[in-house]
Amino acid sequence: MQSEKKNPTYPYCAATLNAVPQNNALLQKSKIPFGLVFAPYKNIGPDEPEVPVVSPEVIVRCKICRAYINPFVTFVDQGTRWKCNICHVVNDLPAFYNWDSKTRQAVDRNTIPELNSSVVEFVATQEYTRGPPQPVVIMFVIDVSFQSIQSGMVATAARTILSTLDSIPNYDNRTKIGFITYDSTLHFYNLNSSLSEPQMLVVSDLDDIFIPAPDDLLVNLSESRSVIESFLNKLGNMHKTTQNVSSALPSALNAANKILGPIGGKIAVFQSNIPNCGKNSLKKREDPSLYNTSKESSLLQPADNWYKEFALDCSRKQICIDTFIFSGQYTDIATISTLPRFTGGSIYFYPGFDASRAEDANKFSSELNRFLSKKIGLEAVLRIRSTRGISIKACYGNFFLMASDLVQLPNVNPDNCYALEATIEKDLTSEPYVCFQGAVLHTCNNGERRIRVFTNVLPVTNNLTEVFANADPRAISIFAAKKAVDKTLADKIEDARNLIISNCIDIMGAYKQSFTASGQASQLLIIENLALLPVLTQALLKNIAFRRGNIPSDIRSFALCVLYGSPIENALSYIYSKLYAIHILDANTGLPIPNTSQVYMPPRINLSIQRMTQDGIYLLDNSQHIIIWLSRGSNPELVNALFQKPYEAIASGKTTLPTPNNDYATRINNIIECIRKSRLISYNNFPYVYVVKEDDNTRGWFISHLVEDKLDSELSYPQFLSHLREQLSKYSS
Ligand SMILES: [Zn+2]
Repeated sequence: MQSEKKNPTYPYCAATLNAVPQNNALLQKSKIPFGLVFAPYKNIGPDEPEVPVVSPEVIVRCKICRAYINPFVTFVDQGTRWKCNICHVVNDLPAFYNWDSKTRQAVDRNTIPELNSSVVEFVATQEYTRGPPQPVVIMFVIDVSFQSIQSGMVATAARTILSTLDSIPNYDNRTKIGFITYDSTLHFYNLNSSLSEPQMLVVSDLDDIFIPAPDDLLVNLSESRSVIESFLNKLGNMHKTTQNVSSALPSALNAANKILGPIGGKIAVFQSNIPNCGKNSLKKREDPSLYNTSKESSLLQPADNWYKEFALDCSRKQICIDTFIFSGQYTDIATISTLPRFTGGSIYFYPGFDASRAEDANKFSSELNRFLSKKIGLEAVLRIRSTRGISIKACYGNFFLMASDLVQLPNVNPDNCYALEATIEKDLTSEPYVCFQGAVLHTCNNGERRIRVFTNVLPVTNNLTEVFANADPRAISIFAAKKAVDKTLADKIEDARNLIISNCIDIMGAYKQSFTASGQASQLLIIENLALLPVLTQALLKNIAFRRGNIPSDIRSFALCVLYGSPIENALSYIYSKLYAIHILDANTGLPIPNTSQVYMPPRINLSIQRMTQDGIYLLDNSQHIIIWLSRGSNPELVNALFQKPYEAIASGKTTLPTPNNDYATRINNIIECIRKSRLISYNNFPYVYVVKEDDNTRGWFISHLVEDKLDSELSYPQFLSHLREQLSKYSS
């Protein structure tokens, strides 16, 4: 292997073990789970390199295991053949990798992307296409019951969709869109291009749905543009006087499935209520008396299996479901979230949404805009291949698993991240490296069929010290988080907590058993690179998904979704927030970094109140929200510079900072904009800015992020360490 050829960079892929034990016995001895966290189609920020797109004469694959040629293969027989790094079979190398017949020159293999870049996208040849490519198809399914109208959700959605029509991918003018709205009845809209005005068609039989005018409900965006615009201009006011509080979501979904079934596509759901009407409606089952009991998990598990079955049916038909939930009251996210989970979709949650508040309208509008305009891969399958002797035991993520190594994804959603767990089935003595290769065959927005291939190669070792020294505590923690989400949904929260903590204790115990000299029993020892493991473990236990306490089940369910789906960096910030002191800025802080879209960030500080001072101002980024912490003693000049009013006059809660009129405020606004931009790109999340003051009732919420401090019944970090020490004393060295 050539040393300069690198594995995919961190945001694409992270392995728990960057040196793989030579056999299963050694892996078991280390107690480190063997997992890979990966986001093959991740969003690319403005400062990141694009993935090379290549179209060689033939896409070269191994004749036996069908792996794609990649930077880690070896060339044999004077470069005329290549040895597969997955199955070791020697294959013929096509002449074009040696000789360029056009320029009549020898080929410099260092210039060929698929032989040098560990993430690459092949333009598929004829053999990978089956019929015409799927166009972009979006069916908007919008709740228009009283709550949706009252909150301004429908008007904001209509306005945003209207202003985004030009940004929806529409290569070749093949994109189709349609709308269904619903309360206790379903409303279809005939958008035939010959009409000057849309026609609303109401269907009130929710059980046996009749689709009126089936050919005119899903229309070509370009051809029907004027009638679509006319519809969206009216939609905001169309149901203005409604008093209807019913919401027949399942029936609306059935109708959308019938319409999209033959061609596949995306269903975008906008829901303000618990689905309380028609077949498969849901009941309010929130029950605070179950919080903190072994029965709490039942609130986090789907109430009705129909939602999962429906999602699987959609997945088979290449339909992806994305859900936008707006509610001040219980909506049963536990059940509704199964729709995106099994179809490769996303869930967006706006608790207590009120569009008359600029912050709410702005957040929803920004996220919907990006949702509609971002690139998506369609009708995709993901295949994972690994070195002989390595098996894939489990996969985690928002998809439908067809086989242990084959995943169906109606959409390749760049916001989603997946994980796999591997086992070592046979001794790897003859293998210097273990290789994983993921290939996502998909249709991209220009109708081209492409295969995105990423290849990750990990050296094999028979040395336990090397196994520990190359373990990655971040990947281990994210991997544990995804497993714990599954555990919560299958068993109990307490089981998930046990999984998280025993993951840490087992690894540290194994290290102690193997490497600590006797007589050092009271010392807590872990190899330096794993030093973050205890703090991340503790942070995970205190995450709203898993911590003890009275947490409404919608909030907990949403947190489980965030942990399950988030890309690597977002998940890490969600587990261990980024905290910055913003009252002492050095010369560059908050100023743009030349030739990038970034700004210089302040140094991060540990998540403990002891690291904060009374006169300080702090900014916390938990990947979902940006929180500014103010205390009575916060430097009054800086408070005034940022808010243009004194501490006493500042309201806590969601806020929009005034337009900066001084250098300090400009820098802080730059920092906030930079965080927002990167969250919007990486996870389609436009964080609110919240102000929390030390003497108001949201104080506890801010404090709950300080995971190194004691929180209710959860331990402080020093207490947690002494708990670990106690547990580890059981491990003899
Ligand atoms: Zn092979």
